[in-house]
Amino acid sequence: MQFLYEREPGRREAESEVVAAGEQEGRPFVELSDTLFYPEGGGQPADRGTIAGAAVLDVQRAGGAIRHFLERPVAPGPVRLVLDWARRFDHMQQHTAQHLLSALAEDRFGWKTTAFHLGPAVSDVELAVPALAEELRAALEEAVAAEIRAARPVRPRRVTRDEFERLAAVRTRGLPDGHAGEVRLVEIEGVDLNTCGGTHLASTAEIEALHLLASEPMRGGTRLHFAAGGRARRRMAAHEARNARLRGLIGAPEEEFAAVMAAKLDQLQGAERRARQLEQALAEATAAVLGAEAEASGRPVLAAHYEDRDAAFLGAVAKALSRRPGTRLALLTAGPGPAGPFVLVAGADFAGDLGALGRIAATALFGRGGGSGGIFQGKAERVDRGEAAREALQEACEGTAGGAP
Ligand SMILES: [Zn+2]
Repeated sequence: MQFLYEREPGRREAESEVVAAGEQEGRPFVELSDTLFYPEGGGQPADRGTIAGAAVLDVQRAGGAIRHFLERPVAPGPVRLVLDWARRFDHMQQHTAQHLLSALAEDRFGWKTTAFHLGPAVSDVELAVPALAEELRAALEEAVAAEIRAARPVRPRRVTRDEFERLAAVRTRGLPDGHAGEVRLVEIEGVDLNTCGGTHLASTAEIEALHLLASEPMRGGTRLHFAAGGRARRRMAAHEARNARLRGLIGAPEEEFAAVMAAKLDQLQGAERRARQLEQALAEATAAVLGAEAEASGRPVLAAHYEDRDAAFLGAVAKALSRRPGTRLALLTAGPGPAGPFVLVAGADFAGDLGALGRIAATALFGRGGGSGGIFQGKAERVDRGEAAREALQEACEGTAGGAP
């Protein structure tokens, strides 16, 4: 049977009748005596809209029938169908654009289409060519534009299987397995004759425009993204709005964006390098001060907190301290709190079990961590407990010393 969406692809509303209602995996569905709603297939997504006021969430073929999955059950009987026309028209633009694009890519450039995908923002075709040279790609877009301007009629028709077999010029990605009866063809006058069950515009002029977007290698071929019609215009409008914001931010005309940004990124990398050098120098100086303080205090364990610093800084100070002679321990914490990083580090001559002491520090700081090579580091839930942790460490060190024979 030919459904309404095939017979009148421009129709937006219709009366129909629910002839079967049921549930599939908890989702209510209805089958109709005739339908406006295109079921997902051939790369084109299913239509949306309402049936008796209930939102259509999905439309799928089920054997010979079409199931309309609804937000709520609808009982058998007469119903009004309302199509989400904006969405459908957009799909017709992308889908018809794809027919034209595929036909010209194959006939003028020898690039066969092996797959088509109509996405929510952009669509794509997969072409059997390893890469697209820029000038050929531009020539393809130009060829499409010329056929849009030519306003070529687009007409669906049905032929018998015998007629189909006799037509030499039909482009097809193969009929579905078990296909019986008539074959639906779509013709773009003078350009293309293709097997297709989808919904199409009446003329290539309705495509409005087709923009070729990014391409990338895919399964030995090339995936080429595109946007047609209203989407192409909306995309252009979004580009303009974004460019206006960027002109303000970058302070340059858009032709200079790339050069200005490349220079700014260079500057930023230089600044980051310099910041790392300065932080390293600061870490060395901090380690020298701490080392001197430790000597002066005579305490076996020292604690220090750095509110404006991070784990990387603590790591650098710890590294510097671990290279200094001596056996003293330093417990370093950082961050505005309450949580933050901590490091326990021992002087180069320390021979005790730093892992065990690190766990004592972590417990006192309500944190956790691990370590190797004279440095134990972790994350504390309470960096304000540095002094309590220091006392616990000192007690542990003295306990070990006192217990030794
Ligand atoms: Zn089609």
